[in-house]
Amino acid sequence: MLHYRGKVFRPPFEENSLLIEATVGCSRDKCAFCSIYHDTPFAPSPMEDIESDIRFIGRNRTLFKRVFLVGADPFCLPFNRLQRIGELVGEHLPRVETIGCYASVRNILAKTPEQLSELAKLGYARLNIGLETGLDDVLAFMDKGNTADEAREALARLNEAGISFTLNLVMGLAGAGRGIENALANAAIVNEAQPQLIIVTALNVWPNAKLHDYVESGKFTPPTLREVIEEEAAFLRATELRDTLFFGMHELNPVRVNGTLPHDRDFLADELEAGIARFPDYQLDAPIRQIDRADGGLRRTGRTS
Ligand code: SF4
Repeated sequence: MLHYRGKVFRPPFEENSLLIEATVGCSRDKCAFCSIYHDTPFAPSPMEDIESDIRFIGRNRTLFKRVFLVGADPFCLPFNRLQRIGELVGEHLPRVETIGCYASVRNILAKTPEQLSELAKLGYARLNIGLETGLDDVLAFMDKGNTADEAREALARLNEAGISFTLNLVMGLAGAGRGIENALANAAIVNEAQPQLIIVTALNVWPNAKLHDYVESGKFTPPTLREVIEEEAAFLRATELRDTLFFGMHELNPVRVNGTLPHDRDFLADELEAGIARFPDYQLDAPIRQIDRADGGLRRTGRTS
């Protein structure tokens, strides 16, 4: 049996990866829009458990081509531990070609360029990074823990080391009236970084997140449904990417599109703008998400396409 002590989340494109738990919880757990790990104190997984899991799979199944390290941000682990995990994978899982995990900007900046190059040689690739937004004041307001320039620096270091990456963006994170500004700031960073994959998700105000309190107190005004769709279209139109997958199919997204950039850029933006016409104005002009206190759950203001 493999050791899973915490919550197991993986990106949509890791369905065929071997999931090895490397950390439990989030090393930061402060982002205002996120409540996933509030009930899970952070801890590195014991190295003996990680080694035992890798050896166990090595003895029983060796067909996996990729390992995805489970945890909110296993790249927070010290270089020596990530190096040891990479060595164990190489030793016991010879068919594995790459190792991925969630990583924050802070995790990356805590590694030297030489250490990142070493990790690249061990197979670390396709790190999944929560960029969220390219606007400094929004990063600070949401307590993300890094600035836009730090994100730029971290992504440049990954490119220099030869470690590919996915960037996650939250449409609507800048709040009402700032969608286009956010779109252009996001596009500026991704154009510089040239990620392998971009995943966009519409903002959702979760009941246990600090952002929920900010909405209740008037400190944050969520964007409307129309603004969120327009922001995604504006972002796409501002991208200048050479070869990047674009995944906008999350269930939170009011209009779902998926393609390759730059080839599908204008088609996807057109689809998003056409999608607006499928909603009535009363939904388009309402905040994208609201808390339904009657049943403690979430009520969507717009239907999914
Ligand atoms: S968004 Fe990521 S880094 Fe921020 S609290 Fe959630 S899991 Fe942690």
